[in-house]
Amino acid sequence: MAGRTKVCGPCGLCCKIFAVEELQKPMAAWCVHHRAGAGCAIHPDRPASCRSFDCVWLMDPEMPHRFRPDQTRVVLDQDPDGTRLIARCDPANPQAWRRNPMYAALKAYAAKTWGTGKLVLAVAGRQTWVIAPAEDVDLGEVDPSAGIRVVERANGVISVEVG
Ligand code: SF4
Ligand code: SF4
Repeated sequence: MAGRTKVCGPCGLCCKIFAVEELQKPMAAWCVHHRAGAGCAIHPDRPASCRSFDCVWLMDPEMPHRFRPDQTRVVLDQDPDGTRLIARCDPANPQAWRRNPMYAALKAYAAKTWGTGKLVLAVAGRQTWVIAPAEDVDLGEVDPSAGIRVVERANGVISVEVG
């Protein structure tokens, strides 16, 4: 893509976290074509769903190296309409989103976008959390693409409606 200043390098974490329908690859399992430290063995011929994915770290020239997903064990995934930032954890490290510097960055982004209709979510396996400025809400086993509505009451208590 024009203007991109970063490369994935030895990362490859998205090749574990996401399912790839064209390859019948399930989520949370390394792709058979991934080579540790060397990337995709079929890069010129990789499926369309692989070609179409770029994580937030890769797209954002300002995001420091320490946020590269193989360092944090978290792939930052911005949905196409820009309303959900999803911190997708390596299932082997389901609490990775709670570690700094990732956690502080997620909280700062939640605070910056609070009340604008944007959602900041963390996902590990089938478990989903809403990250709000003052608290994190465990939604249990919820698809992060499901309808999720956060309501803040006058006393500051928040509730989350799913579905
Ligand atoms: S998670 Fe991001 S940096 Fe890592 S391989 Fe995928 S697109 Fe590249
Ligand atoms: S085909 Fe290549 S880019 Fe796609 S998941 Fe497998 S290793 Fe990653």
